[in-house]
Amino acid sequence: MKKVLTTCGYCGCGCNFYLNVEDNRVVGVSPKNDHSISRGQLCIKGWQGHGFVHHKDRLTQPLMRGADGTFYEVSWEEALSYCAKRFQEIKKTYGPSSIGVIGSARCTNEENYLIVKFARSVLGTGNIDHCARLCHSPSVAALADTLGSGAMTNSVNEIEDADVIFVIGSNTTEQHPVIGMRILNAVKKKGAKLIVIDPRKTRLAEYATNYAPVVPGSNLAILNGILHTIVKENLVNQAFIDSFTEGYEAFKSSIEAYSPEVVAPIAGVPEDSIREIARLYAGARTATIVFGMGVTQHITGTKNVGALSNLALITGHIGKESTGINPLRGQNNVQGSSDMAVTPAQLPGYQSLTDDEVARKFVAVWGEGFSREKGKTLGEMIDGANRGETRAMYVVADNLMVSDANLNHVEESIQKLDFLVVQDIFMSETARYAHVILPGASYMEKDGTFTNTERLVQRVREALTPIGNSKADWEILREMFLAMGVAAPYQQPSDIMEEIRTLVPSYGGITYERIEEKGLQWPCPNLEHPGTKYLHQEGKFTRGLGKFTVNEYEATSQRPSAEYPYILTTGRI
Ligand code: SF4
Repeated sequence: MKKVLTTCGYCGCGCNFYLNVEDNRVVGVSPKNDHSISRGQLCIKGWQGHGFVHHKDRLTQPLMRGADGTFYEVSWEEALSYCAKRFQEIKKTYGPSSIGVIGSARCTNEENYLIVKFARSVLGTGNIDHCARLCHSPSVAALADTLGSGAMTNSVNEIEDADVIFVIGSNTTEQHPVIGMRILNAVKKKGAKLIVIDPRKTRLAEYATNYAPVVPGSNLAILNGILHTIVKENLVNQAFIDSFTEGYEAFKSSIEAYSPEVVAPIAGVPEDSIREIARLYAGARTATIVFGMGVTQHITGTKNVGALSNLALITGHIGKESTGINPLRGQNNVQGSSDMAVTPAQLPGYQSLTDDEVARKFVAVWGEGFSREKGKTLGEMIDGANRGETRAMYVVADNLMVSDANLNHVEESIQKLDFLVVQDIFMSETARYAHVILPGASYMEKDGTFTNTERLVQRVREALTPIGNSKADWEILREMFLAMGVAAPYQQPSDIMEEIRTLVPSYGGITYERIEEKGLQWPCPNLEHPGTKYLHQEGKFTRGLGKFTVNEYEATSQRPSAEYPYILTTGRI
């Protein structure tokens, strides 16, 4: 039996463990006691959730759809050369922006980087996106705008030492079990005060000093009410505001209208509770905000996160240990896939598409002519397919037919595509509509890195050779480059990481040698840099000054009526 150290492929906590492998089968899991996040403890998924890798329904051979609509097995050469031919034909006939590419928060950083490079420099399209569009893209947008960096400001372990923990829209004990455990430790063992704002009475709510059961869709009302109280009761950190922020006066005027009296009936939370939350948070020595998709999955998601940023800035609760604003990223590598810019509006490392200096750097590695256009989002690509503008899509490890909103629309739209390639490990609901299906590999069958929710870049290691005739996704991508007549000089994933670090400043000091034993947290700009535990230290924001934003409350359309008397909301179990 061999034991292979790797990073969990389920959630953004990024626990490490050893996969116990016998005859190319996973036979068990052993904990890694000295790992910074898992500390030898795992949730049920980490302990028990690996059997799928050997499931009889795994895709093990490339498939193509025949004229009668059924799939038949083909060789890798046939599948890849057919994909290349069809992509080239469609690009020539309808232009590069008729093609869309979807990456994956389940895949490694190296794979997502290749997906982006393939889209922008081989296909020449800016239409590149992934499931972060449906979860934390508002967090990335709002935090990048207000602070300069769209990631957790602090480390998971710092949560344990916060005096006040402000949890909003996160069922942490179920979504991020290990982080949930840290919060419970802070409350039960260290006397931390806990604020929970959530329509559902989650497990954490049972331990809260203040629990606000908000009406779904009213986050912005209650957050502006808390901000209003902080200003009115002079609980602001004026020295911090004066030294390190901009836009305060316009913001201050904007929240004049949100008194607790006005906000309480909208949010369904008593006025006094809103005042108490404001006093507790503002008066803390160290205070950390923790949030999930209960904040972002609204039509005002970006404004909701902007209001959380305002809270941190107005109190100066940022840039210190155990003190900051922390979006809990859901899937194992959604932080990394965002870092690699599997989004239509940026280049890897959150770099601007329009900055000529950045572009010169990319030209030196990717060559001339890569797409600098701001492409379509995932939803826009689907709409485009419905209108006949998106003619082809390459979907890597994403199940649009389960994850997206309005599935009837998705189904109708993807059926209109001239060409759909799905790369996955199972015959997903989306794969059933594909013209070509490429069998990829799970995280247990490949090398690479994942970046967890606290920006920690860690190794993923091949414990099993890919099942059947499936291949690691980075290898499939490399062969897709070659089939399209473009060089792909990567013998192993570490070669791809070497390229990433020349282009992405925050990954500049991250090499496989350096993360062999334990990961590094970005920003890690050079080989001597130890990594960064918390961001924006001493008021030095990544964007310069912290920026207050105006975020007016607007009623969402999610209100019950006589015809539709229920509120349905998203949430994880
Ligand atoms: Fe895996 Fe998350 Fe569970 Fe840790 S908490 S074992 S990373 S699913």
